[in-house]
Amino acid sequence: MFSKSEIRDALINYPLKEIMEKATCEKRKIFGNRILIRGIVEFSNHCSKNCLYCGIRAANINVKRYEMKEEEIFEVVKKACELKIKTVVLQSGELKRKKILKLGKIVEKIKGSFSLAITLSLGDLTKDEYKYLKECGADRYLLKFETSDEKLFEKLRPNTSLKERIKNIYTLKDLGYEVGSGNIIGLPGSNLDTLINDLLLIKELELDMIGVGPFIPQRDTPLKDGKSPNIDITLKFLSLVRLLNPISHIPATTSFDALHPEGRILGLKSGANVVMMDITPPKYSKNYKIYNKKTEISYYKDLAEKMRKMTEMVEKSGNKLFFDIGASLKAQNPRLIF
Ligand code: SAH
Ligand code: SF4
Repeated sequence: MFSKSEIRDALINYPLKEIMEKATCEKRKIFGNRILIRGIVEFSNHCSKNCLYCGIRAANINVKRYEMKEEEIFEVVKKACELKIKTVVLQSGELKRKKILKLGKIVEKIKGSFSLAITLSLGDLTKDEYKYLKECGADRYLLKFETSDEKLFEKLRPNTSLKERIKNIYTLKDLGYEVGSGNIIGLPGSNLDTLINDLLLIKELELDMIGVGPFIPQRDTPLKDGKSPNIDITLKFLSLVRLLNPISHIPATTSFDALHPEGRILGLKSGANVVMMDITPPKYSKNYKIYNKKTEISYYKDLAEKMRKMTEMVEKSGNKLFFDIGASLKAQNPRLIF
């Protein structure tokens, strides 16, 4: 199921249940029923970019901007460690150079204090900045290409280009990061061909991690009236991502829950092997509205209580939480790349 026409046929004609079962079977061969957990800290909602789909775009004056202090980030990471979380993702909008340098110091401090992996998700930086953060101890970087359609990319991400984004992905690989990327499923202006090309691009990039999620309209953005894709096509897409990329780490992201009450559970039944737990303090998290409809699981105040909910959710999907650093299988065994 690898050629363009086979992928098209699968997206249109394959029964969803069958494709989900195949993806689960593929996942089980590599990961068993173990689901990795990563904690995500949305440490700042400042952003210099204006992506049309995103709620924290620079032009949105309704956002109360924040930046977590070094001690606050450190405290949250410490709590995550106490809960046995072994990977922390630090995410923000696109920040000024001064803030990047400051973040490097925080990364250094965290790596010097705890045994965990750090993933960064800070958007497009210069090669020097990526290099600096790597040297500070960052292990992984998530940079989604969002859409494989160049024209749509330029329309939705003003003053940026897909070529530049892809170049950054290869720069990150060259610098020794484990790299994640992926798309937004069903962006307004995309169609079936876009989805097929997105799948092919994901495969071509040979990623350590693959983050895909449905478009969710945000009320303060130019795309506020855009429609989300339906859950079936979203799950089919995720299943195909797994079938095309057997050994990559693939999360069932919170955006699945925004689409369907059991979205993440269904994601875990469609080949995903990772869950993300939002560990941002609620007083900040409520202002990180990339999209609306964050479900209440992200709002449990107490992290231990939230972990219990995550455990329940994962068990409901027929899997078990696995507290491991969850390094890239490609990095561990390059022979596994196929
Ligand atoms: N600023 C960084 C990281 C933060 S945004 C960057 O842009 O790379 C993290 C992700 O949120 C983006 O990669 C995008 O895929 C997703 N996102 C933003 N707005 C969205 C929306 N309305 N619906 C679904 N996903 C969205
Ligand atoms: Fe900024 Fe990232 Fe949102 Fe674009 S998607 S506006 S870069 S936070």
